[in-house]
Amino acid sequence: MLLSGALDFVLPRACPLCGVSLGLGSPRVVCPPCLDGLERLQPPWCPCCGKPFASEAALAHSPDHLCAACRESPPAFDLARAVGPMEGQLRELVHHFKFHGRAAAARELGPLLGRLAEEEMGGLLAGDDLRVTHVPISPARWRERGFDQSELLARRTAEWLGLPFETILERRKETSPQTGLPGRQRRRNLRGAFGLRRGTEAAGKRFLLVDDVLTTGSTASACAHALKAAKAEAVWVVTVATVAPGRWIPDN
Ligand SMILES: [Zn+2]
Ligand SMILES: [Zn+2]
Repeated sequence: MLLSGALDFVLPRACPLCGVSLGLGSPRVVCPPCLDGLERLQPPWCPCCGKPFASEAALAHSPDHLCAACRESPPAFDLARAVGPMEGQLRELVHHFKFHGRAAAARELGPLLGRLAEEEMGGLLAGDDLRVTHVPISPARWRERGFDQSELLARRTAEWLGLPFETILERRKETSPQTGLPGRQRRRNLRGAFGLRRGTEAAGKRFLLVDDVLTTGSTASACAHALKAAKAEAVWVVTVATVAPGRWIPDN
């Protein structure tokens, strides 16, 4: 990983999505047309978790327009939003960022998250009680990757928004991979997985919690739960992608 990082400075890189050359020593990780062309989620979506509905009927049958998952088991966060669906090029980009040590991708993705937060949370993003923070990676993953992708994303998002960044949560236990587990089991798995770092304070503060992907929302909810147990006022979540299989796309 160190070696590939060093080579980035001497070898011209290609956009991982279309293969076009980014030029020698370019700070870019993705070419601008690919970045602008990433698919964005379109409303209607669940006002709580931000996931698109599975069908027109799923929307119509929900009187408060919350999705079934949020109705059955309300998450601890106040609201979650994602730039786009975990599909196609966005999925490729997230994987690239996560598994190929392309820490510089945070430079491209941070502004996307910042803009999303501004669009979705608008006027709420003011005040000195607000912090940008992240879902912490486990120590084992950190050793494997050498960087915490969510921390990098959160730092860039904070920079773009001009808000203070703070690492506040820590992972208290290793959790087995969440993929493929049913919701209830995921939540059980995550019980007590997050806590506040020694010397940090959440009381009376509001948090913008950054992660790369929202899968079921259980991890973000467990983080929000830890923050709220420490008397945080509000927790809003922004992620690059959200997993939304079989989403319903209304025709305009
Ligand atoms: Zn490209
Ligand atoms: Zn929902």
